[in-house]
Amino acid sequence: MNSGDLTKLIKAEALNLGFSACGIAPAEPVDSKERENFNQWLGNGFQADMSYLERNQDKRYDPSLLVEGAKSIISVALNYYPQKILNKEQLQFAYYAYGKDYHNLVKNKLTRLLEYIQTIDPQSSGRVFCDTAPILEKYWAWKSGLGWVGKNTLLILPKAGSFFFLGEIILNSELEYDSPKKSHCGSCKRCLEACPTHALTSDGNLNANLCLSYQTIENRKELSASVKQAMKRTIYGCDECQKACPWNNRFATANNEPDLQPNEGFFNNTEQDWQNLSVESYRRIFKGSAVKRAKYEGLIRNISAATDADKTE
Ligand code: SF4
Ligand code: SF4
Repeated sequence: MNSGDLTKLIKAEALNLGFSACGIAPAEPVDSKERENFNQWLGNGFQADMSYLERNQDKRYDPSLLVEGAKSIISVALNYYPQKILNKEQLQFAYYAYGKDYHNLVKNKLTRLLEYIQTIDPQSSGRVFCDTAPILEKYWAWKSGLGWVGKNTLLILPKAGSFFFLGEIILNSELEYDSPKKSHCGSCKRCLEACPTHALTSDGNLNANLCLSYQTIENRKELSASVKQAMKRTIYGCDECQKACPWNNRFATANNEPDLQPNEGFFNNTEQDWQNLSVESYRRIFKGSAVKRAKYEGLIRNISAATDADKTE
């Protein structure tokens, strides 16, 4: 089969599997400008204590070190914008954490896509990835023509927004390639203005030390008074820079993935229920959920910070 026909079949199957978009880039070493930006970001200490981001730079910058003979990177996007949103009186979670852990969901779909590719192109082999290996996911999604990286540092899909999980297959077959898209942020800076901690810099970077997603999920230490204040009612993650984006406000539509629908406990819990959350209830409500990354102790810390009566609004 020629590379053009193979590419068409792969993209059609990606949509069949429920992905909203699929694009493909040649698996070349990462552009020097991108490498310089990432090195500068690390040099600034913007990765906070996520030291895994400092390791495996050779693999991060050269996909052929992850998959021998790599020729193509297939990037996909899966919509996670919720069907139903917690009401304002409730304690809040970032939308991506409403359902089951996206790592498994995206990887399972990508594994099915790779198996399909191997049935129509038996010589092909590759590996699937979703946020678990040293890969510059947003860069590859941009290179694959899925969208552009906005000033909120997230990938924005044209006429769809940024509430998407990303995943990749690095494949040893040649395919037809897409072209990167230009930014359509223009003079907008709503995400920078909406960020409660000024974690976004004017040159398009994120300082994770200041970001509430980092603070409420990755940070295992005590939360500072300023972080507690900025969290308001959110106890896991933060979506403020996405909620402010006109591309989301205009185009986001609800996902229809069964695994991304929250269970009843998640929606029904009152503030008091969360404050009294037992280990057993935590395990039941968040079985298979990405929220487990913060661990029980971390979530309890966040609940206590968000409901602290001494906080001034
Ligand atoms: S997730 Fe929240 S804290 Fe982090 S950059 Fe976006 S708005 Fe700011
Ligand atoms: S809010 Fe505006 S500047 Fe920020 S990512 Fe969206 S379009 Fe770009």
